[in-house]
Amino acid sequence: MSEYKYIKDQDEEIYQTLVGEEERERVGIELIPSENYASLAVREACGSVFTNKYSEGYPGRRYYGGQEFTDQMETIAIERAKKLFKAEYANVQPLGGAAANVAMYFALMEPGDTVLGMDLSHGGHLTHGHPTTAINKVFNFVRYKMKDVDTGEIDYEHLREMAIEHKPKIILAGFSAYSRELDYAKFKEIADEVGAYTVADIAHITGLIAGGVAKNPFDYGFDVMTMTTHKSLRGPRGGMIVIREDEEIAKKINKAVFPGMQGGPHMHIIAAKAVAFGEALHPNFKLYAEQIVKNAKAMEVVFKDHEVRLLCGGTDNHLLLADVYGSLGVTGQEAETVLDEVGITLNKNMIADEPRSALDPSGIRFGTPAMTTRGMKEEEATSLAELMIRTLKNKDNEAEKEKIRQAVVALCEKFPVPETFVD
Ligand SMILES: *Cc1c(COP(=O)(O)O)cnc(C)c1O
Repeated sequence: MSEYKYIKDQDEEIYQTLVGEEERERVGIELIPSENYASLAVREACGSVFTNKYSEGYPGRRYYGGQEFTDQMETIAIERAKKLFKAEYANVQPLGGAAANVAMYFALMEPGDTVLGMDLSHGGHLTHGHPTTAINKVFNFVRYKMKDVDTGEIDYEHLREMAIEHKPKIILAGFSAYSRELDYAKFKEIADEVGAYTVADIAHITGLIAGGVAKNPFDYGFDVMTMTTHKSLRGPRGGMIVIREDEEIAKKINKAVFPGMQGGPHMHIIAAKAVAFGEALHPNFKLYAEQIVKNAKAMEVVFKDHEVRLLCGGTDNHLLLADVYGSLGVTGQEAETVLDEVGITLNKNMIADEPRSALDPSGIRFGTPAMTTRGMKEEEATSLAELMIRTLKNKDNEAEKEKIRQAVVALCEKFPVPETFVD
């Protein structure tokens, strides 16, 4: 439990919310696939003196003085990021994954240009041109889909036809609700045919790529990767863009981030990113990344044993999508609510070509990065999946839910949230 000594003395109202959140995180199982627990070292950096400093520009080229230590620190962050993702250039300043994507779009395109990205109900992200986003008013977004939602295979033939028809400037590979590996070589081949940039938005699988358990799109010639640093990479909330080798692209990306769309970089968060990259370069991060996938596979087995339909037919990564309405008659919203009651947090999610509505869809999405950080392995992943199915089958049985709630608390007590990952 953190002390929050100064907040406690000075601001009781906010202190109470901090204590509440710590307790919530301690006694519940986090299965939201985009969430994780940052180490205390990362959190120390977030709370550090670097929050006081204005550092507009880049190391060695700033608009204000007093940059001796910010320059050293940001340079270390950049070097570590390059090593983690096998990149020649890195921009560690984007404030989040969405900001990274917006900067990337403006760096590589003119208004009106086209992006060919994953259909949103097939796993693509809001920032890939959802109608409600500002970016959708500036650029033109066209979509590819899966060929078979029960294997997750992308329809590469259709992707190629779309590319030839729409002449996109960017072909975007990446997702927030898709559980298979992509054939990056195919993407690259099609992009070369139509002269498009290849960008991978790896926001969800950063940790898996850094840990070497998912393919690195740069090994297949991709130009750029955008990402978050707070999901499976386990760093502070933030974004990043890495460039494989092209200096011209790197210059365009840097200009698009600053002054294109951001002001002063959040130096305290960049320091925390550097600390997290240091943790991810530690040999035990590879074991962490491997365990994330093993745990997801263990959950897949349980859901299949209970004949619950999994989108993409299962998982190669850290997440699963289950059609709980189709298989158990429980809607995504009902499932989210009842699992929350027993202390298991996840989110409702649309399934491919959703027959219901976005507000109450057929599916749930869940993943293993956070529970794996707590040290849980296949045995616990299996028990958790069993508990989830028991909950869904007993959603109106208060006595049964109370028993499950106790089992969840016991598991949390056995696997406390760790304070450090390198020892
Ligand atoms: C999470 C996510 C983002 C957005 O990241 P934020 O930090 O929330 O802005 C962008 N793209 C994908 C694929 C994501 O999963």
